[in-house]
Amino acid sequence: MSIRSMHVFAVCVCVGSCFGQQTPPPPAPAADPIVAMVGRLDLDRYKETIKGLTQFGDRRQGTDRNRAAIDWVEAKLKSYGCTNTERIRYNYQPPESAGRGRGANNDPTVGPGGSRRRGYRITEAVNNDPMKQPDVKLRELNSQPSTPGPREEVYCTKIGTAHPDEMYIVAAHMDGIGWGEAADDDGSGTALVMELARIFSSSDVTTERSIRFALWNNEETGLTGARAYVDQRKDLQGIESPPGSGQYPEPKWLGMIQHDMLLFDHGMPLPDGTIPRKQRPEADINIEYQVNAKLSDAAMILAHKFQLADDKYASDYPANVGPHMTNTDSTPFMDLTPAISIREDERGAQLGNGWDPQHHQPTDVYSTYSDDDFRLGLNAAQTTLGAIAQLTGAKLEAGK
Ligand SMILES: [Zn+2]
Repeated sequence: MSIRSMHVFAVCVCVGSCFGQQTPPPPAPAADPIVAMVGRLDLDRYKETIKGLTQFGDRRQGTDRNRAAIDWVEAKLKSYGCTNTERIRYNYQPPESAGRGRGANNDPTVGPGGSRRRGYRITEAVNNDPMKQPDVKLRELNSQPSTPGPREEVYCTKIGTAHPDEMYIVAAHMDGIGWGEAADDDGSGTALVMELARIFSSSDVTTERSIRFALWNNEETGLTGARAYVDQRKDLQGIESPPGSGQYPEPKWLGMIQHDMLLFDHGMPLPDGTIPRKQRPEADINIEYQVNAKLSDAAMILAHKFQLADDKYASDYPANVGPHMTNTDSTPFMDLTPAISIREDERGAQLGNGWDPQHHQPTDVYSTYSDDDFRLGLNAAQTTLGAIAQLTGAKLEAGK
């Protein structure tokens, strides 16, 4: 403020108060409606949704249990009021050579996504041995092998009131591997997306911009389902169809937020190769963008908006931002729209060093996790709900 404007300000103040006029008290700040929306999340409900997903075992793509899980997710979305569900259809043929093929890397300090490895490391592996699953019933449930061929994945959309032609994509992958229940990878992210679809679809919630809730299939085969979505729909963005209808089957992408493994942050491996048994008190949510993406600067800003939403809305755990997003469904989007991933650990430096011993293992079952673990996922839900509500102009209508 300049001296001159301070002088003007002082005069104005005097007009209101020096001649006995009553100045009305400033209005009380309006309660933040987003706090009330975040309050509609709760730990028991989040756990119940994860538990529901585990009835389909590891939900491996190309199996009856995977297809049954997609039907179950779609029925739930509809029951929440997200009734405009649609499916992407594509064909999956596994590559000739087995394995996911991450490419040769001879430098032991360089991890996935361009990250820097530090500390003790447990090498990551995918379990393909049914006999490592001690639960006979679960082993049986997971026994049908994947067959190449047609695939489906489901999404539904909250339509914006002012800008139905623009949307954020809130996503997770519903398929898993490893002969467990894929409870953390990625029942935890799938349940988060479903819970947000429930809350945003409530009849008293409006948003100015649209939100699409997407549950990808075939993440574990190399992001196949998310790539199919990008290929089929990227050129449809912002097109009104039919013309003049006010309907936008593919609103313009404002950002893509992927959720992948949200429960377990017990710290790094100890020198003896074990992991601490309890959630570490300083556990955090890891929000990552990819510094080599075409839209990395915009993604970095989006990541920090989510970090600030965690400060404001998450009850227990903080969030941190890193630049090495990798190995999840946000990658196919990252050159086309600001894309971030939300996880229990950094994918490259931490998960890539073996911080989660359940990753793709028979131990990734519901009963492995404590409430302190589940609460980290709930905090991620509070963070994304808060951030997306802010970004889309969400409001609560009283008395509805
Ligand atoms: Zn995953």
